Amino acid sequence: MGATDRRGTQHGARGRYALDDPVVRLRGIGPRWAEELASLGVGTVGDLLLHLPLRWIDRREIAPLSAARPDRPLTAVGTVREVRTLRTRRRGLDLMQLLVDDGTAAIRVVFFGRNYLAEYIRRGTRLLVQGTPRLGSHGLELTGPEFEILREGEDPAALTGWIPVYEKLGPLSSRRLRTVIGEALDGLGPVDDPIPAALRARHGLPALDEALREVHRPPPDTPAELLAERRLPGLRRLAYDELFWLELALALARRQRLALGGAPRLPLTGEIRARIAELLPFTLTGAQTRVFREIADDLASGRPMSRLLLGDVGSGKTVVAAMAMLVAVEHGWQAALMAPTEILARQHGRTLARLMGRVGRRVELLTAALRQAEARAVRAKLASGAASLVVGTHALISESVAFRKLGLVVIDEQHRFGVAQRASLADKGTRPHLLVMSATPIPRTLAMVLYGDLDVSVIDEKPPGRLPIRTVVRREDERERVFAGLERALAEGRRVYVVRPAVEEGARGLKAAEQGLAEYRARFPEARVALVHGRMKPDERRANLDAFARGEVDILVATTVIEVGIDVPEASVIVVEDADRFGLAQLHQLRGRVGRGDRRSYCVLIASQDADEHAMNRLRVLEQTDDGFRVAEKDLELRGPGELTGTAQHGLPSLRVADLVRHKDLLLAARDDAFALVEREGGTLPEALWREVWRRHGERLKLARIG
Ligand code: ADP
Ligand code: MG
Repeated sequence: MGATDRRGTQHGARGRYALDDPVVRLRGIGPRWAEELASLGVGTVGDLLLHLPLRWIDRREIAPLSAARPDRPLTAVGTVREVRTLRTRRRGLDLMQLLVDDGTAAIRVVFFGRNYLAEYIRRGTRLLVQGTPRLGSHGLELTGPEFEILREGEDPAALTGWIPVYEKLGPLSSRRLRTVIGEALDGLGPVDDPIPAALRARHGLPALDEALREVHRPPPDTPAELLAERRLPGLRRLAYDELFWLELALALARRQRLALGGAPRLPLTGEIRARIAELLPFTLTGAQTRVFREIADDLASGRPMSRLLLGDVGSGKTVVAAMAMLVAVEHGWQAALMAPTEILARQHGRTLARLMGRVGRRVELLTAALRQAEARAVRAKLASGAASLVVGTHALISESVAFRKLGLVVIDEQHRFGVAQRASLADKGTRPHLLVMSATPIPRTLAMVLYGDLDVSVIDEKPPGRLPIRTVVRREDERERVFAGLERALAEGRRVYVVRPAVEEGARGLKAAEQGLAEYRARFPEARVALVHGRMKPDERRANLDAFARGEVDILVATTVIEVGIDVPEASVIVVEDADRFGLAQLHQLRGRVGRGDRRSYCVLIASQDADEHAMNRLRVLEQTDDGFRVAEKDLELRGPGELTGTAQHGLPSLRVADLVRHKDLLLAARDDAFALVEREGGTLPEALWREVWRRHGERLKLARIG
């Protein structure tokens, strides 16, 4: 074997590998490992090279051992003079002691529990060690250092620099990855960069191969901060890639949808305007008016609407959706509203029935809880066209539901539905218009990746006369104080929600709602206390909710089933226990259950015993703002997008490199670039771009009927 074997340079020549070569071609990867890697989604050399370092170790300078000082990090290369392996007397641990000498001085090196190393490290072995020496009883000692065994004649310079540390990938340890990725980089032939050079130049991003080399082997002069903060140009380049391909797929999907046309043309006639006026029990806010105009324009266009309606809890989205539904049915089309849960479907059913009653229209309900005969009757009416308005859960998209003339679909809380489900509902009509409502205000950046193929309308104004909700954060040991406050609230005849994180006492000691029922009954003997949670029988749950709504229950102890859609204007206090276990956006959502009436409302967040200062500060964001978008931005910063939406598996594209907070500028740039490109090219992209966007987002494109 040659001297520089580890880095493979001797074996050849660049050009041995291409990014789309299967990993098995790599020297050092056999068929069995290749198979394991493939099962992890790493099929090609390019995939492997996107397994990026977690961090980098500074091994840029090899110092003489004579310069070693206690408590100062050190990298040295020396020869092993002595090897001793023993067992500690007291604890029976393996102990290996080396004496490493580089000619200027010697240092004692100690490993615990790794006596097997004696098989590789012997007298005469040349070793690179890295660690921080401490002063022991026999002078300077280096315990458990990072180390590399140098092969005969190997130049230690080949082992220095910024050393990448990887997350283990299947069978490949960090150390092994270093070797294999090094091999891939050394043998990599010329790379066709799929990102157009003009775009790269505009954002000052390096070429793809350059980026990969920089990330895996940062040049020695790379400043430490750049690495610590992951601001390497190469990393930014790879993040941009990820965002660009995603946005390109979204831009194509949007273009395709608009190009297909064929949606019902539903103009807003004078007659329909008059009907809408009858529908409304109040004057619309400015934001509602603006947003409805955007929707009305879509409905009139003859091109299928795909619009996301974003608005804080209680901002009046449902009313706007009802107006749109009325437009459709007045034109003789059917309209459906789909909700993610049974409770929410019933809630919407009631609201809609109340509104539509004002214009003499009936609303059907179709959920899984319906008796078979009832469900059959509703389905028959939808198929014949006898029913024009329906509200339901995912039962609405089951195979057996056919519509005669479905013109508009409204989906509430879309993020709980997958992209595929969205597509499947759209199949039910001749391209119905689609309006997606989200009561979880999400930051613009996240909306761009989650719903990037949709047009977005935002309701950023609340109906008049709402008092802001007063929010306070309390610690567990202030519980008595909270309870005293609750006593006063109950005496004033207020209705109270109490939210607990889990149904049963969980392994992590979460407070159970069931247990909460007993506790609150004991603490407030005068009060009528009831329980709702997701694992209850639907009938029982509904009975308890209704009793609370009618004022026959004072305290409703609940899990997060009350998160969305429950509307009891008389409820004016909400207490959330173990509040630090929830995300901010979710707490904000829960808080939205109160503040719906004309009374001042209160939200009390009780942090669990083990909430640290960081957790407390996070909760205090809610004391400071009631703007859902700001809350969501904060949540995204603090916890990341997966936590924010709870949708890792539902439509949130997995971003491996890009970070929606850190790379916000790149996301905005990638979006502009991708949409402009599709606009300019009129749907016919250059071959290289097609190939790459298909490779990465084929599923999404298929759903959009592209290709
Ligand atoms: P969202 O769906 O955004 O949570 P809703 O449409 O359910 O909000 O509206 C919340 C409450 O505010 C409902 O009781 C609704 O009747 C009322 N509301 C909506 N718009 C207005 C308005 N413009 N003026 C007064 N009340 C309104
Ligand atoms: Mg609502």
